[in-house]
Amino acid sequence: MTKRLHTCYHCKKSFFNAIYWMDTLHFDNFDKRLIRPFCGPKCVQDYNETSGARDWPNRKPSDYPILQRKGPEWRIIDNIDYIEYESD
Ligand SMILES: [Zn+2]
Repeated sequence: MTKRLHTCYHCKKSFFNAIYWMDTLHFDNFDKRLIRPFCGPKCVQDYNETSGARDWPNRKPSDYPILQRKGPEWRIIDNIDYIEYESD
């Protein structure tokens, strides 16, 4: 498998080995699965402060099984280095 190069959603820097990302799986205000990678904690913090993400509603635990049944695009992701994902 090839390790994927990520583009930081906030500063647009390219980097390997993603530790931080935002996943729309966890927020109720998204109908589409998107992954937004971040190069480090500073960009996560800046993004959270400028996007209003702190106020986004979390999905209810009961929503997760419903999403899993919608298809593989809603699978649980714990590492984004070796997968294809959609960002925006
Ligand atoms: Zn960054």
